[in-house]
Amino acid sequence: MCAAKAITGNLFERRTVSVLPPLPLAGPYDYVVPEGLDIEPGDFVEIPLGRQTQRGVVWGEAKGDVDPAKLREIYGVLPVPPMGAVARKFIDWVSAYTLSPQGAVLRMGMSVSDALDAPKPVFRFGLARGITESDHNVRITPARKRILGFLRDHPFIDQADILRETGTGASVLKGLVDAGLVKREQVAPPSPFSPPDLTIGRPHLSDDQEKAADFLCEKVAANRFSTILIDGVTGSGKTEVYFEAVRAALASGQQVMVLLPEIALSAQWLQRFRVRFGVEPALWHSEVGQARRRETWRAVADGGAQLVVGARSALFLPYKNLGLIVVDEEHEHAFKQEDGVIYHARDMAVARGHLGGFPVVLASATPSLETLANVDAGRYERVVLGQRHGVAVLPSVEIVDIRVDKPERQRWITPTLHKRLLETFAAGEQAMLFLNRRGYAPLTLCRACGHRFQCPNCTAWLVEHRAWGKLQCHHCGYNAKIPDTCPACGAEEKLAPCGPGVERLYEEAIQTFPDLKIEVATSDNIAGPKAAAALVDRVHNHEVDLLIGTQILAKGYHFPMLTLVGVIDADLGLAGGDLRAAERSYQLLTQVAGRAGRGERPGTVLLQTADPTNRVIKAIAAGDRDAFDQVELSERMKYGMPPHGRLAALIISGKKENEVDEAAWRIGRVAPRGDGIVVLGPAPAPLSLLRGRFRRRFLLRTDKSVKVQAVIQEWLARVKTPGSVRVQIDIDPYSFM
Ligand code: ADP
Ligand code: ZN
Repeated sequence: MCAAKAITGNLFERRTVSVLPPLPLAGPYDYVVPEGLDIEPGDFVEIPLGRQTQRGVVWGEAKGDVDPAKLREIYGVLPVPPMGAVARKFIDWVSAYTLSPQGAVLRMGMSVSDALDAPKPVFRFGLARGITESDHNVRITPARKRILGFLRDHPFIDQADILRETGTGASVLKGLVDAGLVKREQVAPPSPFSPPDLTIGRPHLSDDQEKAADFLCEKVAANRFSTILIDGVTGSGKTEVYFEAVRAALASGQQVMVLLPEIALSAQWLQRFRVRFGVEPALWHSEVGQARRRETWRAVADGGAQLVVGARSALFLPYKNLGLIVVDEEHEHAFKQEDGVIYHARDMAVARGHLGGFPVVLASATPSLETLANVDAGRYERVVLGQRHGVAVLPSVEIVDIRVDKPERQRWITPTLHKRLLETFAAGEQAMLFLNRRGYAPLTLCRACGHRFQCPNCTAWLVEHRAWGKLQCHHCGYNAKIPDTCPACGAEEKLAPCGPGVERLYEEAIQTFPDLKIEVATSDNIAGPKAAAALVDRVHNHEVDLLIGTQILAKGYHFPMLTLVGVIDADLGLAGGDLRAAERSYQLLTQVAGRAGRGERPGTVLLQTADPTNRVIKAIAAGDRDAFDQVELSERMKYGMPPHGRLAALIISGKKENEVDEAAWRIGRVAPRGDGIVVLGPAPAPLSLLRGRFRRRFLLRTDKSVKVQAVIQEWLARVKTPGSVRVQIDIDPYSFM
């Protein structure tokens, strides 16, 4: 029965196994299994580690790298279902792919350590059978009589109900148990999650939707690994379609995980889910409270939670029998985790499906070029939804050249946009202004001496947040009061905000439209699910005429009366020019544009730009995604960039600049060479100072056929760096800062 064999032949003939603790730098360590303890791979156990007691997972055979006489004993097995073989293989795989220790990966799935403790026991009480009061010679007080009478009518019930209904105290009940008249039985605690209602009928699907849904359901029925992209324009009903696959997987008794990029802001999505399945899904994201996390973790492990909706970390929960993953908005960069274990949740989801032998569904209106390349190569399949659901049509997109159609000085709404806004409000419709910049102004400058306010910990300007009276760094959170005088030259009243943020745009909007209800929505004020749900209600109830916001408004929202979207600065995301700047900008602007005209009234999108011939702007205006993707792919091909080639980054950082430079120089000296391998760097990172740490970067670009992980491992094995300098590895980097 046990996969881990005893090591025989040594002096003690003790069985040994390896155990992985959830620690950032750990791999599995060998332990001795105490006599009489039945242990299998996957068991959660308690172990001594250094001077502490740790919890970990039995990983498999002992490695045998330590003299068995020196090994310590496992303390005991914890009362939770063991971690399945696939979940363990997945952790090994992620560890090998991202070049992070296995313990660091395990830790992401063991963030609620007390979930491993036995849950509080639940007891039920009932009448002991075949025993009468007289048999026992027990004095029957009126209180005891009430309990016995109550239990006659309510055979098996818990203590709180008994005491409440009979108005008695716990000691009375205990007396009856001690006397043998009432029996007490421990029962399994009730599952906190109700099973989804699979009898709710599906909505009437359009022909395209039905074809797509049937295709996905076939994949679920086949119960084999496959990856399917739902490629559908905004508002085409991608969610309705993948709900059918979710239903099919649930009906076959499997667990389902849906990954959303911004779960905390997904109020509308959750509402649709409730309507379709009649229950709340198990949520897993950073805002779920500790007690709920504990319950959820256990319910995922014992199969009580059939449906998990989460952020990327939900990937690492110990599913009992996962059978389908959906990654909605698969192109979103929010799926990339940038610290600790650096990984892309979409790619890891596909790997998880591969190991588990089940389908993975990716959904997007603007799929990533990586995914499109996988479709082209035949690795992923694709279903297409080319039209919006019902009478809704895609919005028309118009370009506004701000060099010609100039706003007033220190203003950002062009005359054309102004006119359209007036028309929209006159028609009783709603509008949205999109500007992807939090705060009042991205930079504050002294007009006397030119001093610019910079973060002391980062290579970044401080952003003015006028509502709080503060200057804030958007990288590290540093903030300071806005001073009255310039700290450099002492000039008074010379500090000037440069450029607009949403707060400043709001100021302009309320001056321009004093009678309208205007609201700003950014991550500063719409921070959690409650705030997001309340915002949705206000927009639906038309308590808002004009919504001003950042990218948090770009995703998912469905406001039928919103017919005009004004993009204040369509060029914003194109600056900086990292590998995916054009792609990301295209995706974001398409998503924003997709908020317009989702109901019966058609929508219009105005893109304000100083660069109307830019191919991103032109492609969006023409609605020609394929053309954009083709040009972008061929550009990438020219330079051997992903998805054609592979990238990895090394980030060298530390508190002392000279140490970092020295380490970077040493690493650079032994950089790998060879066919299909190019190393760029070391170069100061664009954020050469971040949270007080100096940073240098290497970029490794290789042909697709090169095993990047092996190259990096060999590379770093050739050089020693001091403990004060950190070397982070980022396979498939998305951030180049
Ligand atoms: P997408 O995710 O592709 O942007 P959604 O799934 O959000 O699209 O659908 C857009 C809107 O159309 C939603 O309000 C949804 O409820 C509605 N919808 C889509 N398909 C149907 C359908 N078959 N029947 C009824 N409503 C639908
Ligand atoms: Zn900072």
